[in-house]
Amino acid sequence: KRKFFVGGNWKCNGSMHSIKELCEALNAGERLESSAVEVMVAPPALYASYARSLLRDDFAVGLQNCWIGKPGAFTGEIAADMIRDAGFPYVILGHSERRHIPELRENDQTVARKTRYAIEQGLAVVLCIGELLEERQAGKTREVNERQLNAVKEVLSDEDWRRVVIAYEPVWAIGTGQVATVEQAEQAHAEIRSWLEKQVGSTAAAETRILYGGSVTADNCDELAKQPDVDGFLVGGASLKPAFLDIVRSHK
Ligand code: 13P
Repeated sequence: KRKFFVGGNWKCNGSMHSIKELCEALNAGERLESSAVEVMVAPPALYASYARSLLRDDFAVGLQNCWIGKPGAFTGEIAADMIRDAGFPYVILGHSERRHIPELRENDQTVARKTRYAIEQGLAVVLCIGELLEERQAGKTREVNERQLNAVKEVLSDEDWRRVVIAYEPVWAIGTGQVATVEQAEQAHAEIRSWLEKQVGSTAAAETRILYGGSVTADNCDELAKQPDVDGFLVGGASLKPAFLDIVRSHK
């Protein structure tokens, strides 16, 4: 049985003040049952240690991105080695904002290389994939997801997939309030699981968590959480509010 996973991607939001308030609100909730749910929040890198110092230890803290390889002369970058060294177990990679915002523009190979290096350094990776609206309208959702996954498969061993959590985040659903229907989410997740079965193996298909992301809220999470191939969520906007705890509890 796959342990439910809920990630809060804070993106480029927050301040010392708001992060303190949010962490206090999260700490005020019931202690998380570690056998039933895994919860990670990913603050902006600058605030990650601060959030870690404030949050209860049943919340994991991760980062939102990292450099592609070894530390060195890469001004402004943070290497996976440092994330591990500083005590953060997770990094989110391949987020659609990093793939598609023109100033960032990471391609499939960049995301794959980052994933490989982060795993080599001992991190677990929340690997984001998902199609644009025009790709969905052209009937290419499965093709795009598989193209993004294939690039990662090229550089990982079958064992490495144990350190990967996949987040399916249709780009048209991110930050738009237009959440995927339960049918759309379940279909994409089932296709991703069948890709895992064929391309990696039955253990990876059975054990890899596939999260849904895109306009998840406390109001729409329960129905999605009931789908057989939805193993949790990656939450943006709604992870900045105490109601994030309702999403964390949606596995019940
Ligand atoms: P929203 O929940 O704000 O739509 O963002 C989802 C997301 O991109 C999480 O990584």
